[in-house]
Amino acid sequence: MAGIQVAIDGPASSGKSTVAKIIAHCFNYVYVDTGAMYRSVTLAALNRGIDLADQDALTRLAEQIKISFQPSADGQRVFIDGQEVTTEIRTPKVASQVSTVAAVSGVRQALVEAQRQLAKTGGVVMDGRDIGTTVLPTAPVKIFLVASAHERARRRYNENVAKGIPTAPLAELQKQIELRDQKDSTRKVSPLVQAADAIKVDTTKMSIEQVVVRISQLIEKKLKEIAE
Ligand code: C5P
Repeated sequence: MAGIQVAIDGPASSGKSTVAKIIAHCFNYVYVDTGAMYRSVTLAALNRGIDLADQDALTRLAEQIKISFQPSADGQRVFIDGQEVTTEIRTPKVASQVSTVAAVSGVRQALVEAQRQLAKTGGVVMDGRDIGTTVLPTAPVKIFLVASAHERARRRYNENVAKGIPTAPLAELQKQIELRDQKDSTRKVSPLVQAADAIKVDTTKMSIEQVVVRISQLIEKKLKEIAE
């Protein structure tokens, strides 16, 4: 049976990408990390000295650059015009500016179009902020992952340390995460909001395995319904 679209949205560090990667692997679906795409446009803008207040320049940049992914043993590699940026897009500098770039409507239009193209191939697990509401509004499975800000900061801290990415102290990280959530939830275009038909999963006290099992069950159930 052909694969289905699985949309996983939620605030920063709620576990979306970790879980989405595992699920995509289990079901043999394509995984698309849309946050990495907004981060890539931000990195390219910073590297090219583009003024982040210049919305037209940011839009043109998002339309021009080619962001691509390659699966790897420890997740996914990210490229801008063929050049690897997997680590650079995770730096604090990019993290602190990405919400500004992601609030530009022209940037969103360009990336949403690219995301829909990536989802055309069939089974796809896409994670982000507006997947269930805007990018794939007819996705048969929509998940909204949440966790307390403290727990999310703890996870991001440990992840940064494990990957050797320079990281702020835990309390500072929590503040940055809360600020990013606030910017993402209050922006005018496609704010972070739970789709009406999304299922909320609070992962604060759940292990990654438990979250994977829960979402896999929801996908299996949907696949069964479609087959009947
Ligand atoms: O998921 P991640 O933390 O990598 O996302 C980085 C940023 O990209 C988010 O804080 C948000 O500003 C933006 N984003 C978005 N829409 C998406 C995915 C990410 O606006 N679908």
